[in-house]
Formats: sequence, C-alpha cells, structure tokens
Amino acid sequence: MAALDGLPPLRDVIARHGLDARKALGQNFLLDLNLTQKVARTAGSLEGVTVFEVGPGPGGLTRAILALGAKKVVAVERDSRCLPALAEIAGHYPGRLDVIEGDALKTDFAALVPAEEPVKIIANLPYNVGTQLLIDWLLPGRWPPFWQSLTLMFQKEVGQRIVAREDDDHYGRLGVLCGWRTDAHMAFDIPPQAFTPPPKVTSTVVHLVPRPSPLPCDAGKLERVTHAAFGQRRKMLRQSLKPLGGEALLLKADIDPARRAETLSVEEFVRLANLL
Ligand code: SAM
Repeated sequence: MAALDGLPPLRDVIARHGLDARKALGQNFLLDLNLTQKVARTAGSLEGVTVFEVGPGPGGLTRAILALGAKKVVAVERDSRCLPALAEIAGHYPGRLDVIEGDALKTDFAALVPAEEPVKIIANLPYNVGTQLLIDWLLPGRWPPFWQSLTLMFQKEVGQRIVAREDDDHYGRLGVLCGWRTDAHMAFDIPPQAFTPPPKVTSTVVHLVPRPSPLPCDAGKLERVTHAAFGQRRKMLRQSLKPLGGEALLLKADIDPARRAETLSVEEFVRLANLL
C-alpha cells in the first residue's frame, strides 16, 4: 500500500493500533493492496462519486477507494479501536474521508448525502450483517435508489444465492429479490488466505446495478410469495402456495400448479405477487 499512497503498510497500522481481529465483529482484514484496489475498481469510475463504505476496519479498502479518486468516502465503523487508524487516513486526504462510529444496520445511508449526489457503495462486509444490509439497500421506498451500484464482498455461497436465477440450486428468495430490482454478477473470488485472519470459506465480490424500471410490484407481496414457495421448495407450488390461493392463484397467473419454486422466473414470481 505504501507505493499507492505513501501511508504505512497495513500490518504496521494494525500492530501500532493493537487491532487484533475480533470474531464477534466479523473482522477478517484484507491487507493486500492489489486486492483492495481490484475490489474498488470493480465499482467502475469513482471520479466525482461519494462512496459509502461499511466496516473500514484498519482502512485497506478505504485507502484504495480514495487513491482511485473518489470525491469522498463516508465510512461507518462499529469498532472504536479503528478510529485512530482511520483518522490518519483522513489526515492524508483532507476533507475526503468522514468516519461515522456506529452500527451500519441502524444507519440511514440515504440521508447522509444530498439526493442528487452520485453514490456508490463498496464494502468488505461483516458476514453477520451483510445479507440484511443488502436487503435494506434493495428495498427503499423510492426507485431508482440513492445508490448507483453496490460492490460487496460476501461468503461465496451468499454471492451464488444473490446472482442465482431459475433452475439453479442456489436460487431462492434472495435471488428473486436481487433479480427483480438489479442486474447482479459475481466479479471474482478471494481465497481465505488473502485475509487476516483467514475465514473458513472462500469469499466473492458481487456487483449489483439497479434496474432503471423493475416490473411494478409490492415488495411485501413478493416476499410473501417467495417465502411460501421456497419454504417448501421441493413441493409442487399448488401445495406450497396453498395459504395464498394455491391452484386457483397459479392458474390465474398462467403457471402450471405442478411446477416447483426453483423453476419459476423472477417475472413469474412478480406476476403471482401482483395477483395477491
Ligand atoms: N474493510 C476492512 C478490510 O477490507 O480489511 C475490514 C472488513 S471486516 C470483514 C468487517 C468490518 O466491519 C470490521 O472492521 C468490523 O469492525 C466492522 N463491522 C462489523 N459489524 C458492523 C456493523 N454492524 N456496522 C458497522 N461496521 C461493522
């Protein structure tokens, strides 16, 4: 990293500030500057963009985002031990890094910048809160949302669920929600040994871009249909959707009641939700 921005190597930062990783906070730090740059580059051009980062930790990804030219980074970090290390980065990039100490799950991200400001979200997410944050970002009242893209690191298995579509073993509620409102793809994998300490599983970087005009649908109704359908994914839909109208509902939507949840396209789920 020293070559990129003249700041000290992350290993030194971690040692100097005593940032031993805490499992409860999902702390697996990325110390390889090539990798943090690769993650940041996945978000495309950052010129003139405000980037929201969740969980900057010692700041490896934050430094890459700033070095790649983001106008500003607003980073939400729960662990107060990281704040002095992040203050050093803020000092190196005056006026370009705001750190908010707090819980990302309780943060109103949309309220942090003026509505017309271009925003991208980039994060090596803490595994225990990653999926909930993604769902929150996918379900704001207004669409297109306040962000232009999400570039997020997940356990590979979660990444596979995000990008999965029909007839894929990983297809489920998350895939329908992501497929309804976004175009999502997996950019690249990161092996456990790239992190300090290494997690048990491979990670993957997922990039999501909002669809400008997703099919009109009430998110709550879509959730009710997918919850019922995938709750009993091996059963025929006439059985799993019984509480919502079963065979009659399926026939109205022009869907064979003998099909199973994992064979339905996102568009077919939307059709069912709109008939509730
Ligand atoms: N961005 C750093 C990197 O790539 O090396 C650290 C990533 S580490 C996987 C996750 C970070 O999220 C940790 O710094 C942790 O303290 C922070 N964190 C955990 N739960 C959080 C929450 N609810 N809100 C904000 N930050 C959180």
